[in-house]
Amino acid sequence: MVKETAYYDTLGVNPNATHEELKKAYRKLALKYHPDKNPNEGEKFKQISQAYEVLLDPKKRELYDMGGEQALKGGSSNSGNGFSSPMDIFDLFFNGGTRMHRERRGKNAVHQLSVGLEEMYNGSTRKLALQKNVLCAKCEGRGGRKGAVERCVPCRGTGMYLQIQQIGLGMVQQIQSVCPECHGHGERINPRHRCRYCNGRKIVREKKILEVHISKGMKDGQKITFYGEGDQDPDLEPGHIIIVLDQKEHPVFHRREDDLVMKMEIELVEALCGFQRSIKTLDNRTILITSHQGEVIKEGDVKCILNEGMPLYRDPFEKGRLIIQFSVKFPLAGFLPAHKLPQLEALLPRRERYVQSDDTEVVVLTELDPAHGRYHSHYAGQVYMEDDDADYHQPRGMPCQTS
Ligand SMILES: [Zn+2]
Ligand SMILES: [Zn+2]
Repeated sequence: MVKETAYYDTLGVNPNATHEELKKAYRKLALKYHPDKNPNEGEKFKQISQAYEVLLDPKKRELYDMGGEQALKGGSSNSGNGFSSPMDIFDLFFNGGTRMHRERRGKNAVHQLSVGLEEMYNGSTRKLALQKNVLCAKCEGRGGRKGAVERCVPCRGTGMYLQIQQIGLGMVQQIQSVCPECHGHGERINPRHRCRYCNGRKIVREKKILEVHISKGMKDGQKITFYGEGDQDPDLEPGHIIIVLDQKEHPVFHRREDDLVMKMEIELVEALCGFQRSIKTLDNRTILITSHQGEVIKEGDVKCILNEGMPLYRDPFEKGRLIIQFSVKFPLAGFLPAHKLPQLEALLPRRERYVQSDDTEVVVLTELDPAHGRYHSHYAGQVYMEDDDADYHQPRGMPCQTS
């Protein structure tokens, strides 16, 4: 059990979340609260970043789980508060961490694209409409007629403005600030020759349609980069547009790397005597799942069908597995009149008869009410421990489907 859950809550995940779940949660939230998209949520953006930084590091996570935020503070010998800048974390996550060329290249724009599992199975092309800055075509990004650009007079083309202030007794103080006339560019456009189309700004906002090709087998979180398609700026190389795929949950199939996982509930008679079930695949075929005669399927059994999982990226003729987790629906009490039970028993494997002696006390089973009883918390703990090892099997004693 963890001491505090604040970092987990910030990311909206469970305290037993996997690495992948943490990354996915960070990705979604960081894109949503990035200052470019949500300038008023700076604090939230910072919190998300800090929670992610701690939870992704196994040592820090362990420390936090045991002792909460206090433990992190105590253990860290780092200067400051021990956290990286939220922007660095963001860049590391989306751009692979290179902050070089920042000066010469414009910012990358990151967009999330929600994609269905079917699209990742079959491949698809999506059109995405974006707004971006492009150099004004009328003035070719000059902001005015050729020759209309003049050196800025107040700053003499330096872009900086030097103010000299007398601070008494012959002492002066120099204050350097960005030139208000040219905003640091060092040049200005003669108002008479200013481009009317862009109003001298050199760039205009334009709608751009991007065709995003989703290849078979692409994964949640995979990036598709459009090099040099970012905002244009007369002084910078344009940055890239990065599309991050966000896979929607599918009602039937859950993806695990290249495998697909599904749950299937079968009747007791099917579990004992065999069954056939049809499944609609992600490319709309119908496959008929057939069990061998004489095969018995138990609650929690896991079986698979080869080559019916997700296609592999860049090798789409190869496919993963379709993994089926079975649960068996038992009939309700009284499904068979009492006098017919011996007929059923005669067909089932024999049971052991208990020979009752004089000193045996006969006790009767009753329903367990989980809300009562002195061992309640103990039992609850055990159930969670069993729950830990993923959804391959259903924890015992819990219903398979809640309705
Ligand atoms: Zn223009
Ligand atoms: Zn100036």
